[in-house]
Amino acid sequence: MCRARGATVDLKMPAWMPGYYQLLDYAKNVQNFRAVGAAGKELGWEKISSNAWRVENPKTPITVNYDVVATKAFVAQPWLDSTRGYVAPAGVFLYVSGYIHEPVTVEVKPWSGWNKVATGLEPVAGRKNVYRARDFDILFDSPILTGNLDDLKPFTVRGVPHYFTAYKPGQFDGDSLMNDLKKIVQQGVDVIGDVPYTHYTFLAIGPGRGGIEHLNSSTIGFSGEALSKAGERQRTLCFIAHEYFHHFNVKRIRPIALGPFDYDRENRTNMLWVSEGLTVYYEYMLVRRAGLMSGQDLLQHFQSDIAAYENKTGHLYQSLAQSSYETWSEGPFGRTGDTVNKTISYYQKGPAVGLLLDMAIRHSTGNRKTLDDVMRTVYRTYYREKQRGFTDLEFRKVCESVAGADLSELFDYVYTVKEPDYAKYLAYGGLGIEAGEKTWKLYPLQEVDELQGKIRKDWMRE
Ligand SMILES: [Zn+2]
Repeated sequence: MCRARGATVDLKMPAWMPGYYQLLDYAKNVQNFRAVGAAGKELGWEKISSNAWRVENPKTPITVNYDVVATKAFVAQPWLDSTRGYVAPAGVFLYVSGYIHEPVTVEVKPWSGWNKVATGLEPVAGRKNVYRARDFDILFDSPILTGNLDDLKPFTVRGVPHYFTAYKPGQFDGDSLMNDLKKIVQQGVDVIGDVPYTHYTFLAIGPGRGGIEHLNSSTIGFSGEALSKAGERQRTLCFIAHEYFHHFNVKRIRPIALGPFDYDRENRTNMLWVSEGLTVYYEYMLVRRAGLMSGQDLLQHFQSDIAAYENKTGHLYQSLAQSSYETWSEGPFGRTGDTVNKTISYYQKGPAVGLLLDMAIRHSTGNRKTLDDVMRTVYRTYYREKQRGFTDLEFRKVCESVAGADLSELFDYVYTVKEPDYAKYLAYGGLGIEAGEKTWKLYPLQEVDELQGKIRKDWMRE
């Protein structure tokens, strides 16, 4: 309940959803908008921008009714049919402008044939399918899935429960998946040394692509059938590890532009190479550390990212920082369809630079510090202590202070199109690289000194 004092109240719908850096203009799906005051009195209203409704304020409670067209099955869009409902909250809930920090209660009324509601929201004790969020930021970060859903057997890490609820997951061994996920979550938690939520939910919305991360949940396109094939299983585990690790890296370890959010427009940042690129880096590392990927597979993931980056003409034109900043206009993987492609993807160059950065830190500290120390320091300093995001310069300073060295050359790989010296940095970790026409190859060097050998053994977990 908020007590707006003016003669009118503005209601807004977000233009985008954090985690998916594109304007989706959710308000265009709103129909049959109607506002009533006490005793059902119709209130006057007008649209004042593409995502805002101005309603006459009677100074008594206002009830607003509206429909949302929900016909696109995608992690960033609401969906409703006779089989299930998926509430992508930024595309469903209006908020009162100026009152985004007010607490909010949501009641879900599933269709009579459905068995379950799943969400990361806190349930209200004693009330069925009623949930509460501390504010609208939390609400917009908490998708809701309802329908005839399957629950896998939950697991705990450091005493905290992790749930997995799925729509149409297909035939597969759910216990074995949960065993793997437990190992991955454990590895993720060990990087930072903290579990900042009291429960976590994986929401599997059915077969299809895409995932979106949240503070204590993630939405993933998922099919259990794929898990019986080794390659597909590893890809799926990497993908889930990625969405999971985001609860640290981007939701809590975050660039200053990414929260508090401005829901009306693009929230541009140079730093998605950290938020997305290093999350790709950690998806590989977590799955490897969990013992669910071989050392050889680990090298292959990096060599294919490097090849993908190097094979794009865009690497001559666009820096990693620019690819992040421009993602709102160019799309998450850069532009497509141009005669000469002048864009790159931070999903490919980001993990490659992460690898070189980790090697540089390990080299300059005698393998006493790693990229994990950077992530842990940023988490403690900016999320826990200062309770804000970090600037470009602050992130660089943490990297340099952990490394105890100047990292100018590495940050040139972020802010310029300078050709990365892969061979130099990989050799720090006892690895070699061979550039081919289309494919690249990473391999363990034959002759290594003590430090190179130590770094490789630790990094590859061999
Ligand atoms: Zn991501």
